[in-house]
Amino acid sequence: DNAQPKKPDWIRVKAPGSEGYRKTKAIMEEHRLVTVCQEAACPNAGECWSQGHATMMIMGDICTRGCTFCNVATGRPDNLDVFEPGRVADAVQKLGLNHVVITSVDRDDLEDGGAAHFAQTIRAIRHRSPATTIEILTPDFLKCGPGALEQIVAAGPDVFNHNLETVPGLYPEVRPGARYFHSLRLLQRVKELDPSMFTKSGIMVGLGEDRQAVQQVMDDMRAAGVDFLTIGQYLQPTPKHHAVARFVTPEEFASYEKTAWGKGFLMVSATPLTRSSYHAGDDFARLREN
Ligand code: SF4
Ligand code: SF4
Repeated sequence: DNAQPKKPDWIRVKAPGSEGYRKTKAIMEEHRLVTVCQEAACPNAGECWSQGHATMMIMGDICTRGCTFCNVATGRPDNLDVFEPGRVADAVQKLGLNHVVITSVDRDDLEDGGAAHFAQTIRAIRHRSPATTIEILTPDFLKCGPGALEQIVAAGPDVFNHNLETVPGLYPEVRPGARYFHSLRLLQRVKELDPSMFTKSGIMVGLGEDRQAVQQVMDDMRAAGVDFLTIGQYLQPTPKHHAVARFVTPEEFASYEKTAWGKGFLMVSATPLTRSSYHAGDDFARLREN
């Protein structure tokens, strides 16, 4: 029996359907772009899309990994579409975004893990929308040769995000195919390559982790120089996915947030509906003002 704890009332989903939502949807469709908002059935889509905040997922909608929390299909991906960076840049311009978040599936089938495609997408956005700040949320490039990460950092995104997703003890069941310390080291290498680049990471809670392990992850991130932290409640996309162990209360989230600020993160978001890309632009703009 895969009985799940009942969704508490603090997990509220705003219905989509505003004018802004429809406009964002039309731009995504017109440019044939995949979004993680839709792929992950994100509960914030009603709110984010009404403001044009869609997180585009590049390099297709089929992933070479099979994380047990993730709704993206696993399989053999299609060839890269060389015109995609241009379409993304066009969409970003039409949406008139101050800040954009670009993510991708994992491409273990490509020698560079898709690093060159990422870099090209960053450059294309920069060219068309020079005032837009760019945040990328990348896979781990675990199977790539040297140079993959360097290419992306050289393209100069403003924020480099790579999610640790969960505590190390849960990796085998939540993130098979990934390695906790590899991901941590990836974040550290970004900082080494360009100390002025902001780095960001996040985890989901409610997968069965305990508080102490979460605090350890925060310490590990800080040791790797990670600047921004997000923590959100894991929601099961379908009954086939990893079970929700429990719903972490808003008070516990507030306590995580307080702990994280104490550890020196420059930006912290820890609420039940926090996602990597949720309010990412607002938080980043606020940080730059201060
Ligand atoms: Fe999309 Fe992120 Fe907003 Fe969710 S939180 S709808 S994934 S932009
Ligand atoms: Fe989903 Fe990313 Fe894992 Fe692929 S690597 S299954 S897109 S979380």
